[in-house]
Amino acid sequence: MQPTAIAADTLDFDQLAKGQGHKFDHGHAIVVTGGAGRTGAARLSGRAALRMGAGLVTLAVPPAAQMEVAMQITALMLSRVTGPEDLAELAGDKRVRALCIGPGLGLKPAHVALVRAVLECGKPCVLDADALTLIAQEPTLWERLGPHCVLTPHGGEFARLFKQISESDADKAQACLMAAQKAGAVVLYKGATTLIAHPDGRVAAHHGTGDRAAPWLATAGAGDVLSGMITGLLARGITPFEAAQYATWLHVEAARQFGPGLIAEDLVEEIPRIFKALD
Ligand code: AMP
Ligand code: MG
Repeated sequence: MQPTAIAADTLDFDQLAKGQGHKFDHGHAIVVTGGAGRTGAARLSGRAALRMGAGLVTLAVPPAAQMEVAMQITALMLSRVTGPEDLAELAGDKRVRALCIGPGLGLKPAHVALVRAVLECGKPCVLDADALTLIAQEPTLWERLGPHCVLTPHGGEFARLFKQISESDADKAQACLMAAQKAGAVVLYKGATTLIAHPDGRVAAHHGTGDRAAPWLATAGAGDVLSGMITGLLARGITPFEAAQYATWLHVEAARQFGPGLIAEDLVEEIPRIFKALD
């Protein structure tokens, strides 16, 4: 199998710049946070979604973490969510176009219900981190996946979800496609080379080699930023398969502006300069 290589000239960046309207025309995204002491990952995702051009981003926060989150956000909004009913109501707002769940979420039974609420709303969503572990454990969540979902596993999460380990990039491409077909969802298999597969058979690859290598991207929170970047593009109405590709390219492009010592926050703050340079 020969995946399509993701490169700057294969992506239509103009479509990311269009849209002159009100902030609600640019899409409202919901990012679900974990509990107290675990909210940093979702705050990174939320800020990345906003930087990618979502008009509004609301963090859905359990009551015990409300103060922690409120003290550390500015442009993001906050909505108190006591359980899956609250989340379903928030997600059901017609202005909400995309959701992200998993970064820092937690693995308790109560979190299964939150992932279910996200899947049941049927809107484009990114499932990452703990949400992937919960899906691996809970067959009733599998049944709710669809091509509007983007799953973003790293190697360990991929092995847990799909019971496969891949050595070479060629193996990874094949494994990623089989995973997308099994899940019925878009799968973004992270690593130095990132593979993105759609259940209809399309596969794209970002090769992290040559001047696209950025090994310092393997740092805490980098994956959470990527999830948020995809979510922001979903909120803008970009399709899941395309959003995954644009975000992957831009994420590495942001990392390339740095070197060893990069931390996840740097990626988020770099996004506007990457867009400006694409002008
Ligand atoms: P996570 O493990 O969820 O924090 O995600 C890590 C992020 O770093 C993903 O976007 C990976 O694609 C990226 N990544 C991991 N290892 C490398 C590497 N050796 N070179 C470039 N990017 C990497
Ligand atoms: Mg991660």
